[in-house]
Amino acid sequence: MPHVTYLGFPRIGRRRELKRALESHWKGETSASDLLATAASLRQRHWQLAREAGADSVPVNDFSLYDHVLDAAVAVDAIPARYRDLHDRAPLAAYFAMARGHQDGTFDLRALEMTKWFDTNYHYLVPELHAGQLFRARPEKAVAEYREAVAAGHAARPVLLGPVTFLLLSKTVDGSHPLGLLDALLPAWLDLVDALAAEGTAWIQVDEPALALDLDVGTRDAFRRVYDALAARSSAKILLATYFGALDGNLGLAASLPVAGLHVDLARASAQLHAVLDALPDGRVLSAGLVDGRNVWLSDPEAILPRLEALTERVPSDRLWIAPSCSLLHVPIDASDEKQLPGELNQWLSFARQKIGELRLYADAAAGSAEAANALVRQNDIVARRLASPEVVRSAVRARARGLTPQFSQRRSGYAHRAAVQRDRFGLPPLPTTTIGSFPQTLELRTARAAFRAGKLDEIAYDTVLRDEVRRAVRFQEDAGIDVLVHGEPERNDMVEYFGEQLEGYAFTKYGWVQSYGSRCVKPPIIYGDVARPAAMTVAWSSYAQSLTTKPMKGMLTGPVTMLQWSFVRDDLPRADVCRQIALALRDEVHDLERAGIGIVQIDEPALREGLPLRRADWDAYLDWAVEAFRITAGGTSDATQVHTHMCYSEFNDIIEAVAAMDADVISIETSRSRMELLEAFTRFQYPNGIGPGVYDIHSPRVPAQAEMADLLARALQVLAPEQLWVNPDCGLKTRGWKEVGEALTGMVAVARAARERL
Ligand code: GLN
Ligand code: ZN
Repeated sequence: MPHVTYLGFPRIGRRRELKRALESHWKGETSASDLLATAASLRQRHWQLAREAGADSVPVNDFSLYDHVLDAAVAVDAIPARYRDLHDRAPLAAYFAMARGHQDGTFDLRALEMTKWFDTNYHYLVPELHAGQLFRARPEKAVAEYREAVAAGHAARPVLLGPVTFLLLSKTVDGSHPLGLLDALLPAWLDLVDALAAEGTAWIQVDEPALALDLDVGTRDAFRRVYDALAARSSAKILLATYFGALDGNLGLAASLPVAGLHVDLARASAQLHAVLDALPDGRVLSAGLVDGRNVWLSDPEAILPRLEALTERVPSDRLWIAPSCSLLHVPIDASDEKQLPGELNQWLSFARQKIGELRLYADAAAGSAEAANALVRQNDIVARRLASPEVVRSAVRARARGLTPQFSQRRSGYAHRAAVQRDRFGLPPLPTTTIGSFPQTLELRTARAAFRAGKLDEIAYDTVLRDEVRRAVRFQEDAGIDVLVHGEPERNDMVEYFGEQLEGYAFTKYGWVQSYGSRCVKPPIIYGDVARPAAMTVAWSSYAQSLTTKPMKGMLTGPVTMLQWSFVRDDLPRADVCRQIALALRDEVHDLERAGIGIVQIDEPALREGLPLRRADWDAYLDWAVEAFRITAGGTSDATQVHTHMCYSEFNDIIEAVAAMDADVISIETSRSRMELLEAFTRFQYPNGIGPGVYDIHSPRVPAQAEMADLLARALQVLAPEQLWVNPDCGLKTRGWKEVGEALTGMVAVARAARERL
């Protein structure tokens, strides 16, 4: 019978217990030993839960107090010099200093950089290395967690991040290539393997997701060197784990490495099944990532069973493992906690616990269990009901999508003509000032929202609080002399949730938390059905705000790509199709705003860049539909309507053509931290439309000096035409306080006015 396992489990806990334990420890309310005790009990609970759900073996060292890449750096002693003193005194405090910075009387340490883990919404800490770096094995964490699991009676498999992926995810402070450190890293890393092997572990899982990327010759060679050296040195059985995509051109390499087992992603890349079977040498264990570790849907036995059959035909059952495609870190823990979902949705979902249970059924069915086979027949019915449900397939939405023509993605005229019409309509000064949308979400506001959601504040009272906030934002902007106003978004908790809650086809879980980084979690909405907009979503707020001022009020929408990217997306339609449906719903909102007299509409797309596929070969297809979705949303508006977009934390070199093809009249971007470096892609491309490079870093409570903002604006003026330049902060202000925002924006307006004088 195939062996059932999984590559990793969510750490945060069903009720975010780890989050609470971390945050109270950081506040000084609980001791390190309290925190470590909570962490240990979560590990025990999760192994137990996985075993009860049907796993034959469990991974260990997949747990982390903050981040597994940070753990991997610590495990080879890659601790940058600035943390060393603190580390000698208090290793746990130094660990958190690397993760989130540390300030006290003695130390002022900034954190490591953070970035996205492949194309997920999980963020890892970027190891900071330098040429000549020394490494040393610190196997204590992995060994201790292994012992815990063994003592609890589990067949346990320590997980290590593979050295090649580790280096590719790292950066060096001196600009040298991280792979240049391989010779220095390898002995320390092999010592880690030895320390685990000395514990008597049967298997060690080595994660090398980089094998699903485009690799150059040097990197492929690095793989060979690492795994040859490992085989020469150690007899430990290695499960080489690849995930997040197909091996494609790296399949021959992966299959030829001298390891005992290979894990492949057969959810995202089910098409590689036969190629993998053909390439796999005799005697190798194959771990088949059959169910999707990154999505929340109950798997379809009609799709999975034939794959399982092909596997059992070719791989002897003592060498076949089945598992989710990747670590379950990216899904919530237990779908059975969700009792308030619409219709039958809760039956359609599969979170970490259910996924392991599904694999148990598949394994038992493969071994001939009639009971398991029957359960899969029932599962088949559930999936079939889902795919045919009238809440999933809405004929009106389908008909509308079928009727899409290229016309839908067109504005009436080109940018130059629109700009002239808009200049006449709005009569804005040169270097117009605006903000990105949200104003401070004060404690009063958040308290009122919580009370409203708990049923303790009635709708009228809540509405009064929100209207007061809108009035305050409008009055403030008028006093500050800002040219294009916003209503401030007090009614929005989250830029995706606010729209998702008003759209059909979206659902929200109660406990569906997924770790974003450290103690921060997100609860992604679930797009389960065709998306439709039953009623206008923002028109009342924008109209109310416009009624308070004679200056132009900018309507504020979250764009279709971001609405998709930050959700769990149904797996029965291509993402491009789902995105088009959202675009059509948002398009109706744009037209309603236009009809209500809102002359400027901003469609935020901060997630456009992060949707880029892992392989370059797939970029164009993605960018084509992403740009099309934006253009559908903005399409059909009058030339006099000014369409803005906004993108933060983006790097534009790879996507500048696509950004230009979106053809927004104005784009605002985040440039203050990079001191306008990010503008370079726009200037090289000779980007023609309006552009507002942020001059105020809103990620810090610091109020920027006017001279700093003036300097940034001057830099922008050196490379852009004054006619195309706008003046705005980097992003929305909702995490800031009114006092600092007041000072910063007043300063920003003064800077813009002074620059106008000099034009
Ligand atoms: N309009 C949103 C805001 O101001 C944009 C947020 C974002 O780009 N992340 O909050
Ligand atoms: Zn932003």
